[in-house]
Parts: sequence; C-alpha cells; structure tokens
Amino acid sequence: MISKFKTIDFYQSKSAYNLLPYRFLSLDSQRYIVTNLAGEYIILSLDELQRFTRKQLTYDDSIYNELKSKHFLYDDESDIALELLAVKYRTKQSYVANFTGLHIFVVTLRCDHSCPYCQVSRQSEDKMSFDMTREIADKGIEILFKSPSSTLKVEFQGGESLLNFELIKYIVEQVETKNITFGKYIKFVIATNLSPLNNEILEYCFHRNIYISTSLDGSEKLHNTNRPKQGNDSYAKSVAGIERVRQKLGQNSVSALMTTTHESLKYPREIIDEYLRLGFKSIFLRSISPYGFAVKTVNSTGYDMNEWLDFYKEALAYIIELNQAGVKFVEEYTALVLKKILTPYPTGYVDLQSPAGIGISVIIFNYNGEVYASDEARMLAEMNDKTFKLGNLLTDSYEQIFTSDILIETIYETMLEGVPRCTDCAFIPYCGSDPVYHHATQNDKVGYKLTSDFCHKNMSIIKHIIKLMETQPDIKTILESWL
Ligand code: SF4
Repeated sequence: MISKFKTIDFYQSKSAYNLLPYRFLSLDSQRYIVTNLAGEYIILSLDELQRFTRKQLTYDDSIYNELKSKHFLYDDESDIALELLAVKYRTKQSYVANFTGLHIFVVTLRCDHSCPYCQVSRQSEDKMSFDMTREIADKGIEILFKSPSSTLKVEFQGGESLLNFELIKYIVEQVETKNITFGKYIKFVIATNLSPLNNEILEYCFHRNIYISTSLDGSEKLHNTNRPKQGNDSYAKSVAGIERVRQKLGQNSVSALMTTTHESLKYPREIIDEYLRLGFKSIFLRSISPYGFAVKTVNSTGYDMNEWLDFYKEALAYIIELNQAGVKFVEEYTALVLKKILTPYPTGYVDLQSPAGIGISVIIFNYNGEVYASDEARMLAEMNDKTFKLGNLLTDSYEQIFTSDILIETIYETMLEGVPRCTDCAFIPYCGSDPVYHHATQNDKVGYKLTSDFCHKNMSIIKHIIKLMETQPDIKTILESWL
C-alpha cells in the first residue's frame, strides 16, 4: 500500500535542502531583509538567517515553507523550483527585450520662464535658431520606427515645447501616417508649462488623443517663487491650463510633476493639499537633479539628501494619513518601488533599472539633431559635457547610434550585479543603475555607492517602505492598494 504521508523520521530529520541565490542586509538591530533574484523578500532574525545559511533548518521550522515557496531554497520535493524562479526573473527583466519605448523630441529650447532649477539652458522666446527643423524631425521619426517595441511613447519637450507647436503637429502627423504600415501602439505626450495653451492647441490634442504633462510645484506662492516668469503668473496660467485641458480632453488627460527646491522643503503637507485641491489623485515627489542650469543655482535651490528624505517621509506619512481617512491618494515614487517589491513585473521607470535604462528604454533627439542616452544626458550636455552623446541624426544610422561604444560600454560597466557594494546589496531587484547621475556627481559612471546620494536615497526609501509594511499591517494594506 502506498502511504499518503512520509514517516515521522522524515519530518524530524535535518532537512537536506539547497540554497538558491540570495542577498541580505540588516533592516534594523534585530532583523535582516533577505531577497532573491526575482525580488521576493523575507524578514529573518539573525538566528534564523544563520540557521538557514548553514542549512540547519528543519521541515518543522516555521520559516521553512515560506523560504521554499519564495524560492530561497529547494529540496527533493521541489520539482520545478528553478524553472519558476527563472520565469519570475525573466518577467522582471522583460523590459530589456522590448528595447527603446520612449522617444523624446526636444522641439525647441525657447522658453518663457526662467526657473532657477531648470536643467536646460533655455533661450529667449524669439531665438528660432534653437528650434528643431523638419529635416531633423524626419530623421528622428525614422529611428523611432526602427525600435522593436510594439508600444511607443513620443514625448515633446523644450524649453517650452508649445512655442514650436507647428513642429509638434508635423511630427504627430508624420508618425501617424507611417504607423498605418507599422501598426504600433503609440502614445503622444506634450510636456509643457501650459502658458502658451490656446483653443487651437486644445482642439488638436483632442482630435489626436494627445496627453499633457505639466509642472506644479505647490501653492501659488511656492510655485511662482520656484518658476519665475514675466508677469509672475506661472501658477495662474498652470491652474487655468489644467482646468481647460480637463474640460476638453478629460479629467485624466493631464498629469503634473513637482520639483522640490530648498523652499519646498518647508511645505510637504501644503504641497499635497494643493494637488488634492486641484483634483489630482497622486503626486511624484522628486528631488532636484544635479544637471544643467540647476548646478549654477545650487546655492539657492539645492539641499542635502537627508533634508529631502525628511521631506519625503513627512509627505508620505501625511498621504498615508489621508488614505486612512478614506481619501485615495498615491505617492508615485513609492508606488514604483512597491511594484518592484511586491510584484514580478517591471516598472519601465528608466532610473530604477539594471541594466541602466539609458538608450535601451529612452532616447532623446535634441533640437539640433544630437542624440542623447537620456534626458539627464542632454541636460549634462548643456553644461558642455557630451559624454553620453550617442551620435547625430543627420549623420548616424540607427545601428551606429545604438551600438555606439559609449552606450554599450556604459550599460556593460554599470550593471548592478557587477558593481562594488551593489553586487552584495539585497536591494538590487528594487534599485537601479544611473550612470549619468554618477558621472555628473562623482565623475565616475559606476559610482562610489558609499558616498552616492542616489544610493542613499534609494536605500533609505526602500528600507522605510519595507519597515512600514512590516510593522503596520493597516499601512501595508493601503500601500498594496496603490499597485
Ligand atoms: S545603489 Fe545602493 S541601494 Fe541601490 S543596489 Fe546599489 S548599494 Fe543597493
């Protein structure tokens, strides 16, 4: 007779299990976070971690099955553990196969604002020599359709992109005509401060299904301080523009981005209240980028990363409070990290990828035809540092641009799995490689992570989110609802 159950000796014996790849780091003085290749995690005490690592766990240890089901170990009973782990890892890295999805056309450098934290060397509104030409746009469109990705996003940036609306129309129409042959899913987004918005633009966006991305830094006083403009009416124009866009294109057709300046640090709650008041359902808390014009004004706009982290934590606590009171509101960076922690899916967020998202997820066509590996790489070029220039649309082919030494070498050298400190870090599945940031701040694409603000920011945020989920189940439920 075949018994359904194994003998008691089987369950009492020391288990003969094998370890699957894992990394760990201390979460606090008592606990360790252990992660595997697919980003699944488990919290263990030091004793549990040591017994697991020394293969001293037995089947009746309470954590044995959890470690097994999350692919930290496998035993004779695990038929397909390795295959399952491989599928989850492949799913997490699937963005690599899709290759470049986001194509950014910088249609002009002209702008009507003079924001001190701007990363671009804007030009005055009448300097047409800083507009992209149709010839350059055509070359960019050719490259766009060589992407193997079936889903493409075309984003228009500036300067103030709407100051060259004629070229935006030209590109949209050329892309749509060509796409009759290619049949890709293409989304258009205009990044704009909304001040040049008029009925003609709204009507066009309505008929072509174009989305709007704008900037909103907080209250009227804060926004106008951060974003000076003749007439001091940047906030009024933004708010009126958001309202007009929603009326014509729909409530969810416009999103807003905020940049945290030194002044903003005082107002975490007020900034969120402003977003709520204007009907937004989320906010993306962004620290200032150390590129371009922002570097020249760092004394007035800059701050220490610890100050920003305090700001982030206070803002997140307030957002969680709002959710507890029944107001659904999401912090987008936290939601991105949560997706990486709690699901097997990639986020597509360029700054949190390894291999780095530059070039392989995003590409920038500057107004003058120069091609850059990311928006930050273009901003760096505004500081006369063209390290991440991949070529020129007027002279280089798709193959030359995407196999340029600088792109291949950078991606190869900066994969976290081979980077000092990252290679042993439990947060590899949740973090990313940002060679442009590290080149700009440390003059080293790989980066020295012990003194890197990028590392400090992500390590602090990931730890903070995991601690919140592990200590407060009601907060975990709220955070899970953001996915
Ligand atoms: S950058 Fe820092 S947090 Fe991110 S994987 Fe590397 S060591 Fe870990």
